Amino acid sequence: MPFDRKLSLWYHENRRSMPWRGETDPYKIWISEIILQQTRVNQGWNYYLHFIEQFPDIISLAAAPIEKVLTVWQGLGYYSRARNLHAAAQTIIEKFNCKFPDHYQDILSLKGIGGYTAAAIGSIAFNLPYPAIDGNLFRVVCRLFGIFDDIALPTTKKLVEEKCRLLVKEISYSEFNQAMMDFGSLQCIPKNPDCERCPFADRCYAFQQHAVANLPVKINKIKVKERWLHYFLVINDRSMLIRQREGDDIWNSLFELPLIETPNHGSQELSMQLLQLKHPPHADFFTTHKLTHQKLNIYFYIIRNQEFHNKNEYLSIPIENLNHYPFPKVIQKFLLDFTTIDTI
Ligand code: SF4
Repeated sequence: MPFDRKLSLWYHENRRSMPWRGETDPYKIWISEIILQQTRVNQGWNYYLHFIEQFPDIISLAAAPIEKVLTVWQGLGYYSRARNLHAAAQTIIEKFNCKFPDHYQDILSLKGIGGYTAAAIGSIAFNLPYPAIDGNLFRVVCRLFGIFDDIALPTTKKLVEEKCRLLVKEISYSEFNQAMMDFGSLQCIPKNPDCERCPFADRCYAFQQHAVANLPVKINKIKVKERWLHYFLVINDRSMLIRQREGDDIWNSLFELPLIETPNHGSQELSMQLLQLKHPPHADFFTTHKLTHQKLNIYFYIIRNQEFHNKNEYLSIPIENLNHYPFPKVIQKFLLDFTTIDTI
């Protein structure tokens, strides 16, 4: 039996249930794929339902203020995804006459959509013949065919794509891509896959040659930059200071508390001097937050009824209006813990 027919049988017996499964509306497939870019299925499930409820189609998403989109996205992290969705929805309105494009290159031209996502949307919504190559598919194909090249190399991606094209004979690319996503997530998992029960064990190079733990090969490690952020919850009467982040950095367009960033942990004293406060505070809360390329060391301080330097740079808002503003998850969590009616 050809590989893809066997894969199809496995898929029908094992596929995961997800709210966007069986969906043919490219808009909804797009939203689900963007959520899944950096979020697990379980965590993304409710966000997807809520997002679709708030913005049921391209027109409603394009017309919404960005703050509203960010508020709905709040908690999912990697907010550039939400900003790109919003920008791409406006492009679809202006350039594609309000209709989600059905050509691969046009889909790829939208903000926030790379090769994998364009292939996933194109194949699932329009049955375009493109394999959706993500980490799961790399792993499965490298193991099946014994490909020992570094998966970060463009040549390896090309080779994996060629192998996929050899594998798709009888089923659609829509089914192939969705089945491979599930096969990589459930059966051919990164560590200790249950190869004895795998339908492809008899033809899998890695299993036959005892090389499962060595594949795929990933040489380039991501460099992680460490940062030290000092946030100040400045409370006067029942108002507090916030501002909207700008520029080409993390959390663009989200709101934050007054911030001083120091070059390392040891310069915490310096941050206190910069504040010019009569009573410099000690950190009330410390946490770390990991992003793909950054490790954030975050200190939170509470300052009550003191004059705060350069406060004109900030917006003073009533504490009870906090939930009108989208904050990064880590700041929102601190605010939820510390700005309840009881604690202030
Ligand atoms: S035999 Fe093991 S390594 Fe090979 S495809 Fe199946 S699960 Fe993956």
